[in-house]
Amino acid sequence: MMDAASRYMPGSIDSHAHLELLSRRGLDADSVLAEAKAGGIAGIIDVGVVPSDLERRFAAFGGQGIVSFTSGLHPTSVTPGRVDEELALLAATLDGGATVGNRPVVAVGEVGLDYYHTGDHARLQLETLERLATLASRHDLPLILHNRASESDMLAFLRRVRPRGVMHCFSQDAEYCAGCLDLGLLISFGGNLTYRSSDGIRAAAAMVPDDRLLVETDSPYLSPQAVRGAANHPGHLAYTVEALADLRGVSAEQVVRVTSANACALFGIAPWSADEA
Ligand SMILES: [Zn+2]
Repeated sequence: MMDAASRYMPGSIDSHAHLELLSRRGLDADSVLAEAKAGGIAGIIDVGVVPSDLERRFAAFGGQGIVSFTSGLHPTSVTPGRVDEELALLAATLDGGATVGNRPVVAVGEVGLDYYHTGDHARLQLETLERLATLASRHDLPLILHNRASESDMLAFLRRVRPRGVMHCFSQDAEYCAGCLDLGLLISFGGNLTYRSSDGIRAAAAMVPDDRLLVETDSPYLSPQAVRGAANHPGHLAYTVEALADLRGVSAEQVVRVTSANACALFGIAPWSADEA
């Protein structure tokens, strides 16, 4: 057991996890994956933060059919003087068939804007995001978007570029959510949906149409309230699923059904099941 609080909703898909970072929080990723599979999880999207992490992540988790891979450049990793090199590496991966080993790269992410941590590089982040969006659309891949303390620039970018993709770990209010929905994006909710101060996020979660809804852990970050303080992992996804079900007045099974179908459609994957292990 990862921890006594692990709970699994069979068929659910964690649309955003950083498996490589679990070990930094004291978790063994292989045990986490074994437990997730035994619990009936149907997919985990392993999200990159720099293009150079892809080969290493594939080496660690490529043997696991439950894991799908993305490659991206996180805004807090956008560094002056390094962007061209990073984008060239990502372009080489995508131009080379958008695969890693024998597996498809299913999205460009994570990418986005983060002025909370690195507002100094706001302009560089924005230029880099535009280049990443161009790369993604050339390969018909969705974007996984991070958006922190950068709300108005993000909305302006979305209006200008109209990318296909998902706002990951949605952390704004219902009005902002409506703006993102108008622009065609999917909205993914994480453990912060369950925090006491998150009334705005909960109002947003109640209004997202079924066909735009995703759920994620952002492991090892953002543990739901019930397990806050512990490292997050896919075994905590059920807490967010149940919170979504409550807010939306539907069953947890219904939330699983729609979020998993949406994840499969967005990322072009099929649900994993133990039979094909
Ligand atoms: Zn993330």
